Amino acid sequence: MFRSLHMKLVLIMVLLIVSLMTVVGAFLMNSVVGFYMNEFYSQMRTAFSEDNIDFVRDLSTPTDQEEDGAEMISQVLGAYMGTLGVDSRSRNYYVLDGVTGKYLAGSDDEGGENLHITPNITAALMGEMGDESDVTADYMDVAIPIQRGESRYIVYILDNRQTVLSLNEELFALILQALVLGLLISVLLSFLLSKTMITPIERLTAAAQRVAHGDFSRKIQVSSKDEIGVLTENFNSMAHQLESTIADVENERNKLNTLFLYMTDGVVAFSSDGTVIHANPAAREMLARDIGPDTGYDDLFAAIAPMADVQEAGGSSLQGELETGGRILELQLAPFDQDSHTGGVLVVIHDVTTQRRNEEMRREFVANVSHELRTPLTNIRSYAETLADGGSDLPPHTARSFLNVILNESDRMTHIVQDLLTLSRFDSGYSQLNLTWFSFAQAVEDSYQAVLMEAQRHGHTLSLDLQADLPPIRADRERVLQVMMNILSNAIKYTPDGGTIRISAGRQGQRVWMEVDDNGIGIPAADRPRIFERFYRVDKARSRESGGTGLGLSIAKEIVDRHEGVLRLVDKKAPGLTVRLELLIQGPRERGQSHGA
Ligand code: ADP
Repeated sequence: MFRSLHMKLVLIMVLLIVSLMTVVGAFLMNSVVGFYMNEFYSQMRTAFSEDNIDFVRDLSTPTDQEEDGAEMISQVLGAYMGTLGVDSRSRNYYVLDGVTGKYLAGSDDEGGENLHITPNITAALMGEMGDESDVTADYMDVAIPIQRGESRYIVYILDNRQTVLSLNEELFALILQALVLGLLISVLLSFLLSKTMITPIERLTAAAQRVAHGDFSRKIQVSSKDEIGVLTENFNSMAHQLESTIADVENERNKLNTLFLYMTDGVVAFSSDGTVIHANPAAREMLARDIGPDTGYDDLFAAIAPMADVQEAGGSSLQGELETGGRILELQLAPFDQDSHTGGVLVVIHDVTTQRRNEEMRREFVANVSHELRTPLTNIRSYAETLADGGSDLPPHTARSFLNVILNESDRMTHIVQDLLTLSRFDSGYSQLNLTWFSFAQAVEDSYQAVLMEAQRHGHTLSLDLQADLPPIRADRERVLQVMMNILSNAIKYTPDGGTIRISAGRQGQRVWMEVDDNGIGIPAADRPRIFERFYRVDKARSRESGGTGLGLSIAKEIVDRHEGVLRLVDKKAPGLTVRLELLIQGPRERGQSHGA
């Protein structure tokens, strides 16, 4: 009930009433005294003026054989008591000796005992009218010198202000009553007033508390058009503005969070003291560790640059590289409060492993191509030179064998260039698959027939094992045959004469498969993962000898990938190698099309 604003209002009202009543009371009481004094002196001046002829004459004219002039004057004064306002209680008249100022007669009962010489009496003793008022004195008096016959008297009127004092007392009591009443009314009024004033303020306070707790659901009713009404209206619009601003900020934050969540680059943000504020899943995955609030900047990136260096980088950022968990990570470290050198730091992590590997492969590829082309070229050149230099001196069969070498080497070069061209067509996407439906079993059979003679030449036992009811498939027949032939001729090439080569084919779900198993030299475990790389050969000399370019399997892999199939080495114990080809019966998926499992 007595909340501070109520109390303040009551206090203000009380102070107002008290100060008002004090001023009014003091003014009133002062005015009463002033008025009374003025009234007294003007009454006296009128009474003793020349105009009041009878009175003045009665006072100053002695009767015949008069014995006691003072007594006579006293009687005259007694007769004019009404005019002089003498009541013998608060106002009295006295007759004093005009020379000594001694009391001779008077209207009070004490016989002038309390009389003393006042400045007005002194003036009258000197023969002048003593009617000076003295505000500080507690009395009012006038002393008039009277010449009665031979004798000099002083008529002295003294008012002890009793009337005005009792009037003032009454006035004081009245003011006091008015004050009490005024206070009562003011307290009551201030309560009523404060209620009308404070209730809207209380409502505003409650609403402000609600807004502070994030509840924007309710609007405050505007019930008046005064300042508080305007304030309420402004508060409502401020709350509305705040709500939409917060919604915007929330939206932005959600957007950023989603961006952080799904972006492929890693982002880690640190506060100024080096603890993690935010880390996205990509960052955790790339750094291969859990990043929590306990993780510090130094735990992660101290090796790249001290945090203070990043903070002082200003508008630019620092760059670094980190190798961790088999990945190569490119880092960009930047302060996010660029004005101060003590703000937080943001680290963006970019995984460049694949990029680096591709660059490395490209370099290797170029080196390989140059090498592969240079070898036959060198051979051609040296044999051609010998032929040119030796000319007709060379025996004819030697010259012919030289020419054969030159022809073989140029064939080899053509082969390499053709293979490279095929690969580059695949890389650039120019090579389109010519998809048709054809019998998979027939294709396997055809490739078997095609290499049968060659296998027999090497004394290999070539067997074919086809599952019954193999379905037709949708694929590029020419290319599929190219893959099959490559696998088969590799098996023949890399199996010592008299080996066993088994071809089998079947169906598994929505796929068909073919496996070529030989008991040849096989591939060491270390080389197996790289066997589909361009120009990769386990034994370069042997491969070259047998006319291999090291591109056959990479072309085959490229073709199978384009068919969304699988070309892989099957795990098997030595000796030999098993290569497995899998193809989708429905062929590669066109965009938007899907195969059932
Ligand atoms: P190449 O033209 O040299 O045969 P490929 O790409 O066809 O090139 O084969 C790459 C390498 O894989 C070969 O050089 C050979 O070392 C190895 N290779 C392929 N098939 C076999 C196999 N059946 N047995 C052993 N090694 C093989």
